[in-house]
Amino acid sequence: TDPLLRVEDLRKHYVDGGGLLDRVLGEEPDRVRAVDGVSFEVEQGETLGLVGESGCGKSTTGETLLRLRDPTDGAAYFDGDDVFAMDETELRDFRTRAQIVFQDPFSSLDPRMTAGQTIAEPLRIHDIGTTAERRERAMELLERVGLSADQFDRYPHEFSGGQRQRIGIARALALEPDLIVCDEPVSALDVSVQAQVLNLLEDLQEDLGLTYLFIAHDLSVVRHISDRVAVMYLGEIVETGPVDRIFEDPRHPYTQALLESVPRADASEYGRRVDALPGDVPSPRDPPAGCRFHTRCPHAREACTAEDPHAIADDENPVACFRTVDDHPYWESEPLEHADGD
Ligand code: SF4
Ligand code: MG
Repeated sequence: TDPLLRVEDLRKHYVDGGGLLDRVLGEEPDRVRAVDGVSFEVEQGETLGLVGESGCGKSTTGETLLRLRDPTDGAAYFDGDDVFAMDETELRDFRTRAQIVFQDPFSSLDPRMTAGQTIAEPLRIHDIGTTAERRERAMELLERVGLSADQFDRYPHEFSGGQRQRIGIARALALEPDLIVCDEPVSALDVSVQAQVLNLLEDLQEDLGLTYLFIAHDLSVVRHISDRVAVMYLGEIVETGPVDRIFEDPRHPYTQALLESVPRADASEYGRRVDALPGDVPSPRDPPAGCRFHTRCPHAREACTAEDPHAIADDENPVACFRTVDDHPYWESEPLEHADGD
């Protein structure tokens, strides 16, 4: 059977600030290659964790495949249908079946709308039910996410961060979707509240047969909830695998570095960078040639600067690193200066 979601070679490039300054100066504007050839599948009922540092293109991937942003290139298929080719009617149906929960429950809820109005809004937009029916459904959903029906008329400022995220989840459930893109849904919450919200998402998945694309920068969060994990670096996926394999036997040096930085006390701090690695993340305006990770990889060799290791990755070996190929010329080439030569 088809996966519920299939993304093929997705690209999202954009021009910073619309390129106004560049045009004034008569120059070709720099393109930010935020998502640069990303492919993955999510099976019905499965959770795929999409992880990487801030700015690696995770959120842009989620928003683009939902058509909240226009793609630059590539394809996304939802239940076999080409998302980017959908007409108005098809798109309307897609928008009922695929939802998003945003990272920040403080900015993603309209402060002038009550909890009940927020949850019922998708039903109103899609013209489903009477006002009374929508009210009843919103009350049911409040309870479904661990709040109570008598909180219907309260405003966002009267709720805690965790409660607001529950409201965001209830809103995402209103149209009975199949797929929810969860974009760092617990990153802005206190650590003590994170597990409660993750447990709620797991319960809902089990009860409602939901499929999740779960975006996070924190591997410990992803481990808890995912069936499979895809690791992103600088707009590309560098490794994909079953969650246990990724954690027990990480094969890409970037995945290994991410894992090494998990046990730190501030591991869930938003925007955390992987400091087990030398150097900074290069700009997505001008990514390094060859393997994009070569400027920070502890195992980088000359061969890594010339050729893109995505060329050697496939279904059998979903790891974009020359070290996974025994007889690759990589092994004969010289270590780069910052590398350890292993
Ligand atoms: Fe490191 Fe080279 Fe592998 Fe890239 S291809 S991850 S630079 S060893
Ligand atoms: Mg993000």
